[in-house]
Amino acid sequence: MSTAAKTMFQRVCVIGIGLIGSSLARAIAKQKLAEEIVGCDLSVAVCREALDLGVVDAASSNVAEMAAGADLIILSAPVGATTSILETLAGNTDPQALLMDVGSVKGSVVSAVQVAAKDLLVVPAHPVAGTENSGPSAGFAELFESRWCILTPLERRDETYLAAVDKIEALWKAIGSDVVRMDAEHHDLALAVTSHLPHLIAYTLVGAADDVENVNEAEVVKYSAGGFRDFTRIAASDPVMWRDVFLHNKDAGLEVLGRFSEELAVMQRAIRWGDAETLEKAFTRSRGLRKAIIEAGQDSATPNFGRDENTE
Ligand code: NAP
Repeated sequence: MSTAAKTMFQRVCVIGIGLIGSSLARAIAKQKLAEEIVGCDLSVAVCREALDLGVVDAASSNVAEMAAGADLIILSAPVGATTSILETLAGNTDPQALLMDVGSVKGSVVSAVQVAAKDLLVVPAHPVAGTENSGPSAGFAELFESRWCILTPLERRDETYLAAVDKIEALWKAIGSDVVRMDAEHHDLALAVTSHLPHLIAYTLVGAADDVENVNEAEVVKYSAGGFRDFTRIAASDPVMWRDVFLHNKDAGLEVLGRFSEELAVMQRAIRWGDAETLEKAFTRSRGLRKAIIEAGQDSATPNFGRDENTE
């Protein structure tokens, strides 16, 4: 991966070589932003798979060994592992090295940094990009292109830290992302609405299909094109990752869940009393939001979400 031009980083260490970690490794390699990319994962099998795929130059389960000499360390394990990884890194990392986590929750990461790694240069980031698949083979270099990456910098104003945040922003831009900065609390509320709640609803809905009497499993699969299958895609996401998201974003999660339950009660009442106006008004509002998402380039307007099969 060596290049003639000066690269942004000498040695990048990716801790957690799954969908996001391996996609970042691929994107950094594609843009020639590092001389060397190494990986670290709890699972020896994942380390071997990442090496076989050519995603990293070296890999091992030893965090301290892999992070040694790295000038960029990426934390891309589930959010629940953040504190213990930071504790290991705190005694084994060059103080000039940049650390970036990519967790889907930011408030708990910021708190973990204050406790376990306040002397390190940590820049919390969240790429709003992903798929329902996990592991190194699920990753691809283009995952972050034209997707937002949200940075939630710490409340540090020293020049060294501000330069670190600028460099991390430049990294995301170099791999094709649009970057925005906000505070961690705002991030956690916004993403609870746009990402965490939809996942909770999908998991619950797909689970509920199991419980409906008089509809057998074959029918659930056969008629899934009626809308159900789009929820099954989201509900196929990694259970450990999503367990950690809800455990670490409790307040915002409960807040948006409360609002959703209230809205659901309004719909329930409208159906019970034949309130056509309320139903139509609610459905019209949602259509407008879908149009805005397509216009913002965050999804495709192609029928069937771009699927080529004619299923409905
Ligand atoms: P993933 O594909 O499941 O990969 C996570 C990897 O981290 C797994 O190989 C896991 O190994 C490993 N791991 C777990 N604990 C570890 C530890 N203590 N040290 C080293 N490796 C460890 O998950 P992902 O989808 O890439 O998600 C990674 C992070 O990105 C999460 O924080 C998530 O919130 C965030 N994120 C995800 C998405 C998304 O759509 N998936 C989008 C944005 C951000 P085992 O499998 O052996 O446990």
